[in-house]
Amino acid sequence: VAEERWLEVDRFLTGTLVGEDGVLAQAREASAAGGLPHIEVSAPQGKLLMLLAQLTGARKVLEIGTLGGYSTIWLARGLPEDGEIITCEYEPKHAEVAQQNLERAGLAGKVSIRVGAALDTLPRLEAEEAGPFDLVFIDADKVNNANYVQWALKLTRPGSLIVLDNVVRGGSVLDSGEGNDDEAAAIRGTRGALELLGSDERLEATAVQTLGAKGWDGFALARVK
Ligand code: SAM
Repeated sequence: VAEERWLEVDRFLTGTLVGEDGVLAQAREASAAGGLPHIEVSAPQGKLLMLLAQLTGARKVLEIGTLGGYSTIWLARGLPEDGEIITCEYEPKHAEVAQQNLERAGLAGKVSIRVGAALDTLPRLEAEEAGPFDLVFIDADKVNNANYVQWALKLTRPGSLIVLDNVVRGGSVLDSGEGNDDEAAAIRGTRGALELLGSDERLEATAVQTLGAKGWDGFALARVK
């Protein structure tokens, strides 16, 4: 849970330089009204995704974990006119809300939502030769984070960027990940992904801790060599 002061600073930064507009605010509100969990990236993080898409000159983006499409809207705004996003979502209800949000944002033409378990969708994308993707944003079931990094490697090219969210988890990334609960599984998946990012010779990676509306967490960035 975010401390009040961290939250206030995120609000200040959002008001001062991030500039979340009505379309994005409406997407968040529609997601909440649809009963979706409030686990989308914060506005400053969303803007970072947009900037990363712009800075890498991305044209093709792969997102794993759509929810209501909040991060998808930010990413889509960082793409050129002919840019495209494929975003993977397990829950049909989430995909439906995301589709509506993307339509309201005027971005539905750039985004294709693939409903189903991402580990089923990703091999299909490979078979369809949908890649190579210039940027991959991994933000779904954390237990599969290492698998998603492996898939990202298959679906990218030298110079592509891989972004992995929620890698610090309030510090619990340091825990052993023993146990049968979801958080233990998320820790194991995340540690596995970080180890892969650090050891695979095809990748150059870092991770940055963050404090803010999403509490104490962080993201990893990796460049495909
Ligand atoms: N990226 C979104 C944003 O910032 O607006 C937030 C994504 S949310 C943290 C994670 C999403 O991943 C949820 O909508 C969840 O239903 C979805 N998910 C969970 N398991 C999945 C799987 N196996 N394949 C695809 N999506 C999955």
